Amino acid sequence: MSVLQTDITFIPGIGPKRAEILNKEIDVFTLNDLLRWYPYRYIDRSRIYYIHEIDNSLAYIQLKGQIKSFETFGEGRRKRLVAHFTDGTGFVDLVWFQGIKFVENKYKVNQEYIVFGKPNLFNGKWNIAHPEVDPFLTETDRPDGFMPMYTTTEKMKSRYLNSKALHKIIEGAFGMLKGKLPESLSKDVIKDANLITIYDAVESIHFPTTVAKLQEAEYRLKFEELFYIQLNILRYTAYRKDKLKGFIFNKVGDNLNRFYKKHLPFSLTNAQKRVIREIRKDTASGKQMNRLLQGDVGSGKTLVAMMCILIALDNGFQTCVMAPTEILASQHYETFSSMLSEMNIRVELLTGSTKKREREDIHSGLESGQIDILIGTHALIEDVVQFNNLGFVVIDEQHRFGVAQRAKLWTKNNQPPHVLVMTATPIPRTLAMTVYGDLDVSVIDELPPGRKPVQTVHRYDKKRGELYMFIRNQIKLGRQVYIVYPLIEESETLDLKNLEDGFVHIQEAFPEFTVDKMHGRMKPSEKEDVMQRFAKGETQIMVSTTVIEVGVNVPNATVMVIESAQRFGLSQLHQLRGRVGRGADQSYCVLLTPYELSSDTRKRIEIMTESNDGFLIAEADLKLRGPGDLEGTQQSGIPFNLRIADIVKDNDILYKAREIAEKLIEEDPNLEHPNHAVLKKQLSILSGNRYDWSRIS
Ligand code: ADP
Ligand code: MG
Repeated sequence: MSVLQTDITFIPGIGPKRAEILNKEIDVFTLNDLLRWYPYRYIDRSRIYYIHEIDNSLAYIQLKGQIKSFETFGEGRRKRLVAHFTDGTGFVDLVWFQGIKFVENKYKVNQEYIVFGKPNLFNGKWNIAHPEVDPFLTETDRPDGFMPMYTTTEKMKSRYLNSKALHKIIEGAFGMLKGKLPESLSKDVIKDANLITIYDAVESIHFPTTVAKLQEAEYRLKFEELFYIQLNILRYTAYRKDKLKGFIFNKVGDNLNRFYKKHLPFSLTNAQKRVIREIRKDTASGKQMNRLLQGDVGSGKTLVAMMCILIALDNGFQTCVMAPTEILASQHYETFSSMLSEMNIRVELLTGSTKKREREDIHSGLESGQIDILIGTHALIEDVVQFNNLGFVVIDEQHRFGVAQRAKLWTKNNQPPHVLVMTATPIPRTLAMTVYGDLDVSVIDELPPGRKPVQTVHRYDKKRGELYMFIRNQIKLGRQVYIVYPLIEESETLDLKNLEDGFVHIQEAFPEFTVDKMHGRMKPSEKEDVMQRFAKGETQIMVSTTVIEVGVNVPNATVMVIESAQRFGLSQLHQLRGRVGRGADQSYCVLLTPYELSSDTRKRIEIMTESNDGFLIAEADLKLRGPGDLEGTQQSGIPFNLRIADIVKDNDILYKAREIAEKLIEEDPNLEHPNHAVLKKQLSILSGNRYDWSRIS
C-alpha cells in the first residue's frame, strides 16, 4: 500500500475526532485526499497595510500597530471583547466573541503586534473579527510570502480546524512523503505538456515560495484534472465508435419523399438542411450515432427530428421521442400527429397519466411493431415498454435527462438505436467538450425566415400602468400574453400563494379578458386543458410558474412578462423569452424587478435587453454563475470533482489537455503501452466505479 493511502487519523495533529470531521465535512479520508485539498487563494503576507488604506476591495490584510485599550460589550452569550487598535493612521476595532478571557490575558496594550484578518465595515467603523495577532519581533521574523487559505466549514472551525491549522497539518502530512510522491501522469504527457513533477506541484501549491513556482504548480494540477476528464471521455468515445455497430439507414423511402414534397409547409433553412445531412451521414455509416443538436428556441429542431424519424421509418425501424414534461410530450404528439396526418404512420403518446387500457394497447402495439412513433415522458424508459425494433431515439431538452437515463434506452435493444439529443440551452464549447465530449455536435445557427427578434425591456414593478396599457393593446390586436412568476420560497405552499395572488391581481386588472393559470402542482390533465385553451386562443392571459419554460409553442403569444425577473438565471430568462417570438408578429419580453438590484442582477438584465443570442447568453451565464450551477452538469458527465481547474477560466489549459489526450488515445486507445499504465490506473481511481461507462452513451 502506498503511503498516500494512509488513513488521516494517523497524520500528526489529526487523530480520530478530527479525522471524523474531515471525513464528514470535506470528504478527506487519506493522506492523498488531504494533499489534494488545495488552497483556494493566497494572501500576500509580505505587505503591511496602513489602516487609512483599508477599503472594501481588500479581503484580508495585515496591519502593524498597538492595542490602546480593551472594552467589553453585552452579556452572557452576546458578550464581545473589543480591542482598539491603531497604527497612527487610524483606528480599527479587533473583536472577539469567544475566548475573551484568553485574549485579555494574552495581549498587552502599547505593544507592537502584527494583526491579520478580514476587515468589515460596521456602523461606519472598520473592525476585524477574530484576527490573528502575533507579536512583532523584527523585520525578518515576520511570516512572509504567500499564505495559503483553505476552505473550511463551520464545524471544522469549531474544532479549531481553521485554515491556518489545516496548513500546519498539511505541512506534517507532506513531511511523511519523505521527498517522494508517485507520479500521477505518464512521462510522455508530462513532457508534451511541459509540466513540473507532481511532487514539486503539490509542494508549491501548499508552500509557494515565488509567484512563478505557484503558477507552475497551478498549471500542472489544473492540467491534470482537465486531462483526465478528456481522457475519460475520449477513451470511452473511441471504444464506442470502435465496438458499437449501428443500424444502417441507407434507404430514402416514401415517407420522407412524400412529406418533403407534399406536406412540408415551408422550405427548410440552410442550417436545418445541413444538420439533416450530418445525421444522414451518421446513420448510414454503420456506427451508432450519438449526436447533440443545439439550436436556439424556435430554430426548428423538432422539424429536423421529425424528418430524421421519417428516414428511420423508411428503413423499417420504430422510433421514439422523449420529452422532459407531459406538456411538452403532448405538444410534440400534436405536432407529429397533425404534420403526419395524411400519411400512413401510427403515432402514440405515452406518459405517466396514460390510462391502463390505453397503456396496454400501446405496449402490445410496440411489441408487434405496429406503432411507428412513440412520444412520451420518462414513462418511455420503464422496463415494461418493449419495442419490436427501435432504431432511432430523439431526446428533447437533454439537460433534464441524466446520462444514466440515456443509457437505459439501450437496454431496449440488443443493438443500441441511434440517439439524437436536442437542446435549446446552448452549451458553450468548453463545457460541451467537458460534459458532452462523447457526443458529436450539430448546431442550427439560423432562425426560420421572417422571425423578428423579441424586443426585451426592463421595467420596475412599481410602475405597471403603462405595461398594462400595452398588454391591453396587444390583446386588442388579437395577441396573447404570458405572465410568469418565479418559485420564490422554499415551501411550495408559499410559492403557490405567490402565484395565486398574482392571478387574482391580474384578473382584477383585466376584467374584460379571460385569464388562466398554470403551475407544477396541477394534475397533468388540468395543465393540458389550460394549455389547450390558451393554444386555441380562448384565454388571453396565462399566469404561470416556470412550468411553461420548455418547449411550449403558441405562435400567437407575443408578450412575455416575467415578474421578479431578478430571481431568474440568465439561461432561464432566455428560455422563457423563447416562448414568444414564434410567429410572424413582433414580440416583447418585459422583465419586471424592484428598484434595488445587485450589480450582478443589473448585469443579467442588461445582457437580456441587449442580446437575443443564446450562445452569448449561455457564455455570460457560465461566467456569472460558474459551471457548478449549470443545470444537469452533475449528472451529465463529469465523473470527478474539479478541485482546482475552472472550465471557463482555464479554457486554454482545457484545449491543451484535450489535444494531448486526443493524440494519446489515437496512438493507444486502450492505454495498453506500459508507459500508460499510470494513466489507466489513475482513471479507474478517479472515476471510482461510479458509473458503468461501458453502458453509457
Ligand atoms: P425548436 O424545437 O427548435 O424550439 P420548433 O421545431 O418547435 O423549434 O420550431 C418552431 C416553429 O417554427 C414551429 O412552429 C415550426 O413549425 C416552425 N418552423 C420550423 N422550421 C421552419 C422553417 N424552415 N421555416 C419556417 N418555419 C419553421
Ligand atoms: Mg422544441
